[in-house]
Amino acid sequence: MFSLEYFPPRDIAAQERLVRSAKRLMALRPAYVSVTFGAGGSTRDGTVDTVQLMQNLGADVAPHLSCIGSTREQLRTILDDYRARGLRRLVALRGDMPSGMGGDIGDLHHASDLVRFVRAEYGDAFHIEVAAYPEMHPQSLGAREDLDHFVAKVSEGADGAITQYFFNPDAYFDFVDRVRARGIDIPIVPGIMPITNYTQLARFSNMCGAELPRWLRLRLADFGDDKASIRAFGVEVVSAMVARLLEQGAPGAHFYTLNNADAVLAICANLTPAGHA
Ligand code: FAD
Repeated sequence: MFSLEYFPPRDIAAQERLVRSAKRLMALRPAYVSVTFGAGGSTRDGTVDTVQLMQNLGADVAPHLSCIGSTREQLRTILDDYRARGLRRLVALRGDMPSGMGGDIGDLHHASDLVRFVRAEYGDAFHIEVAAYPEMHPQSLGAREDLDHFVAKVSEGADGAITQYFFNPDAYFDFVDRVRARGIDIPIVPGIMPITNYTQLARFSNMCGAELPRWLRLRLADFGDDKASIRAFGVEVVSAMVARLLEQGAPGAHFYTLNNADAVLAICANLTPAGHA
């Protein structure tokens, strides 16, 4: 089971590139595609427009929805609109406080509050995914608390989870074991970040608390500005990691496409029997 994540494009040219990529990626027959919300300065309208583009391509779409900084009424308006558009999936998040919001954190403060709200007001209208952090959320006070907070999201009604990306499969398997030990059996799908740009990856990883292992950093640094070699090496490393994850029981893979098709298609080609031949 593959799913794909896109972010709202900033301008028309970027939108055209996204549609071209998304059309090519439909060949993977994704179970669904998700569209981020408010990340990187994008707006709610950007999410809705991108959801519409993906529905036009025939994809089952899961908009991300973050609750921080919003009132219940604002969230209700968005959810009513999504339901009217025939959407049946959501990725429910707390989100990060955008700078300049003057400290108004809104009515719901944790993703578990949002899951409870959606279940209370919309019943089972939406299949809800939540975020999981095999290497812990960057603001977490400790591994146990972080797990407790994840368990709370599931207890409130999450159907599945997508992880933050990682390059250390042992962190994923350890997280899944600890979740299972708490009696939780929802699918926990590893989030997969293709490696295409070392500088960008290092920046993202610093922000979101994903560890770039030393061996990987040093191998990538060796390539300098040789983008083609970074991409080829990235496809090799990430394909091997996804193959191992799937072989050892991961229920699928959720690709952070960054709106590009090439790396994801190359990775998936390596995963098919033909790709191994
Ligand atoms: P939560 O599950 O609420 O957890 C956030 C932190 O609060 C954790 O440290 C947790 O341990 C702690 N916590 C939770 N509950 C409590 C409690 N009751 N008391 C005290 N502490 C608590 N960001 C965007 O802006 N837009 C997106 O579209 C987006 N998509 C994402 C998709 C995925 C798959 C992932 C993994 C992340 C995504 N993010 C997105 C980033 C996400 O919004 C941030 O990581 C955010 O900081 C946390 O969101 P959350 O839903 O995990 O929050």
